[in-house]
Amino acid sequence: MITVTYQPEREADLLFQVTPEHEEFRSKVREFAENIVQPQAEAIDRDAIYPIELLAQAGKLGFMGANIPTEYGGHKIDGISYAILIEEISKVCNSTGVAMAVHNSLGNMPIYLFGTEEQKKKYLPRLSNGDWVGGFMLTEEHAGSDAGGLQTTAKLQDNGDEYIVNGTKRYILSGTDAKSFILFAITDKELGKKGISAFILERDLPGVELVKKYDMMGVRGCGVAKLSLTDVHISKENLMGNEGDGFKIALGSLDHGRIGIAAQAIGNAQAALDHTIKYSKEREQFNKPISSFQAIQWMLADAATEVEAARLLTYRAAALKDTGARFSKEAAMAKLFASECAVKVTGTACQIHGGSGYMKEKPIERFYRDARIFTIYEGTSEVQRMVIAGSLLR
Ligand SMILES: Cc1cc2nc3c(=O)[nH]c(=O)nc-3n(C[C@H](O)[C@H](O)[C@H](O)COP(=O)(O)OP(=O)(O)OC[C@H]3O[C@@H](n4cnc5c(N)ncnc54)[C@H](O)[C@@H]3O)c2cc1C
Repeated sequence: MITVTYQPEREADLLFQVTPEHEEFRSKVREFAENIVQPQAEAIDRDAIYPIELLAQAGKLGFMGANIPTEYGGHKIDGISYAILIEEISKVCNSTGVAMAVHNSLGNMPIYLFGTEEQKKKYLPRLSNGDWVGGFMLTEEHAGSDAGGLQTTAKLQDNGDEYIVNGTKRYILSGTDAKSFILFAITDKELGKKGISAFILERDLPGVELVKKYDMMGVRGCGVAKLSLTDVHISKENLMGNEGDGFKIALGSLDHGRIGIAAQAIGNAQAALDHTIKYSKEREQFNKPISSFQAIQWMLADAATEVEAARLLTYRAAALKDTGARFSKEAAMAKLFASECAVKVTGTACQIHGGSGYMKEKPIERFYRDARIFTIYEGTSEVQRMVIAGSLLR
């Protein structure tokens, strides 16, 4: 006989629980989401408006410094609360949700994790109070899933005080409005990935130009842009860590970011499901609510089960992060499962809505379009599987 005993290997397995304080925090976020963000969500999508005012308001509530301790002007909350924050905002507006997620985990947090004391003091307060939005500049034409394909260069000048940066970055979220970016560039081509360095790039530096804003299928208001960098002078003080630390900084930051995208996917899927349950009870065919048909009930049951599983994976990865243990595999699992779940569940929601799910009059078609990106940004599903398998086979 085989006996299987569950032995939690790590603290997070024991600590992982959602407390009354988490639910209290959820209510606070929900109030902001439903009263302030939701009324603007349709216009943000329709007209591709970057929600800069909403993000400034979110900053006043502490939502833009969610991973930054108070000593640097932040309002640090625990990992599960952070997932709840992004989940609740994304339930009503994915553009605002992802701009907030990228800011918190990729624009702001890398400075806290990898920056010098001077960099933290200079940038974190303004990035945490809603004055500045932050972005992340990794992707280029030849560097997508393979970040090692970067071509942007940063050359240290002879005086040793400044780097001169040249290159073009594409698909940069908040690229239209962010005031600072974590920039990745090559400082030593010979060293491959070990020759990539990370910098804090200020938007207003001469030579930083918006080439174009992309017109997109979903998350239409999150200001995704192509930016060119021509002879941009970046002070050596803005190098993060040492030369060559860039790849490590990128991967370390993306581990955090993936929990945010998983949380966004849960919010989107949950919102689609909530609308669909309500609709299925109201809509009648064959003289009955469609919710009385077993085919519909099973679709709802499967969708609800998947969303719950995605939430558990995500909250567990978030709890593990808080223990200080390595969480790359768990974050990748959460992102993989939750993003695929959102694509499926929004499809089911559309199906149960029939023709009305296809019309712009209902938010379902927006949730469906928005969900499509979750399996692509911050690492495609294939890349998440590479991270998970790499960890299993280590
Ligand atoms: C809306 C949006 C916002 C974004 N925001 C940002 C941002 O703020 N900052 C930033 O730096 N980047 C950002 N990105 C870029 C995003 O992270 C990349 O698009 C993504 O990582 C995929 O890279 P790619 O588009 O070059 O696709 P590719 O890497 O060309 O991939 C194409 C296909 O090949 C697959 N593939 C590639 N390599 C392998 C492999 N080894 N094994 C199996 N399959 C593989 C991929 O999974 C995918 O299906 C954003 C993208 C979008 C669309």
